[in-house]
Amino acid sequence: MEAVQAVRGMNDILPEQVGWWQGIETSAREVLESFGYREMRTPVAEKLELFARGIGESTDIVEKEMYAFEDRNGDWLALRPEATASIVRSYIQHALHAEGGCRKFYQIGPMFRHERPQKGRYRQFHQIDAEVFGLDSPMIDAEMMHMVGVLVDRIGITNVGLNINTLGCPGCRQVYREVLKKFLIEQGEGFCGDCLRRRDTNPLRVFDCKVQKCAELLESAPRLLDHICNDCRAHFDAVKDHLERLGTRYAVNPRIVRGLDYYMRTTFEVITDRLGSQSAIGGGGRYDGLVRDLGGPDVPAVGFAMGMERLVLLLEQEKERPLRSPFCFFASLGDQARAKAFVLAQQLRGRGLEAELDYEGRSLKSQMRRADKSGARYVLILGEDELARSEVQVRDMLTKTQRLLPLENILETLLTIDSQK
Ligand code: AMP
Repeated sequence: MEAVQAVRGMNDILPEQVGWWQGIETSAREVLESFGYREMRTPVAEKLELFARGIGESTDIVEKEMYAFEDRNGDWLALRPEATASIVRSYIQHALHAEGGCRKFYQIGPMFRHERPQKGRYRQFHQIDAEVFGLDSPMIDAEMMHMVGVLVDRIGITNVGLNINTLGCPGCRQVYREVLKKFLIEQGEGFCGDCLRRRDTNPLRVFDCKVQKCAELLESAPRLLDHICNDCRAHFDAVKDHLERLGTRYAVNPRIVRGLDYYMRTTFEVITDRLGSQSAIGGGGRYDGLVRDLGGPDVPAVGFAMGMERLVLLLEQEKERPLRSPFCFFASLGDQARAKAFVLAQQLRGRGLEAELDYEGRSLKSQMRRADKSGARYVLILGEDELARSEVQVRDMLTKTQRLLPLENILETLLTIDSQK
């Protein structure tokens, strides 16, 4: 019978790879918590309306990439394509703003976008996401970018760049939208169908286009950076000053517009040149109007998201795969010895140490082969003769030496030997 395969673009993370994931998650938790962020976990499905309102009707994500479906009650739901809208919803729903002041949250988990799968781009992918509510100071924009640098460093990835830009406020965007629209009209019909449509609906989104000829035509497009108001310019200058103070290197890239409508003022992308066309490993920015637009108070906010698959791809290029191995493998010969090994293994596990054993009565040779393959630090060999004399062979797999020890209190003895190494 034909076996069922996973959905295209949705990957299994197998035990051989999971060490990367666990390492990244641990680093993320440590770094984010040290900056005062607290974890939040929202559902993977939300009402479709949340994303349509939160991300923008005319964005690629909402128009083309959403996993939207009608459930059995006839409600329209969607698998979350990103975390910000959900976190904002939760922040409003639970009145997390009621305490006043600034709140910092993070979330780690799967996101879903119906994109064309390729290396570094999947339909289920994972993000580390962080959001700050209640601060409009440029200091927090700079701190967040600095934090991303600390995080990438802690994860063990080198050679990433930070590109920053400002998208201005709705006021300057309005002015710029008209300037851009005029430019697009002057360029004529050379753009792809999508861009021609965007020209009328949401001109800024043309910068998301992945079609080569559109990118070329846009080379000479007017820059938003040249049309921002004084307040937005002052904010941007202050962000840059703070970044310099923190020693965080950056480049201003006026072409960063980000694929979501809600961004304003500061936007940034963390990039690498080692992943081919999927060069962005993370990105974020300020979205001051979103909480209000989703029915909450008028609270400023900044956030970012990093793609974990891309981090794993980079780690695989740079580092040796992290492996987990047991502290001790219990090899045994005969039913009685196996029963004893079974109990000892549970006791060692009870102390928080990884233990493995043979459950099936295989030959000693095959057990030793398994122990070796598992990378166990020690092997305890329990034979019938040893058991009769209340003794056990302890093999140190690093030094390849073996000694006979009393079975009584063997776990304590083993731990003492290990602590003396
Ligand atoms: P975005 O929410 O689009 O700004 O994405 C933030 C980060 O998530 C990107 O920089 C990528 O690292 C990652 N990402 C976004 N979409 C995908 C995808 N389809 N597959 C894998 N990673 C993704």
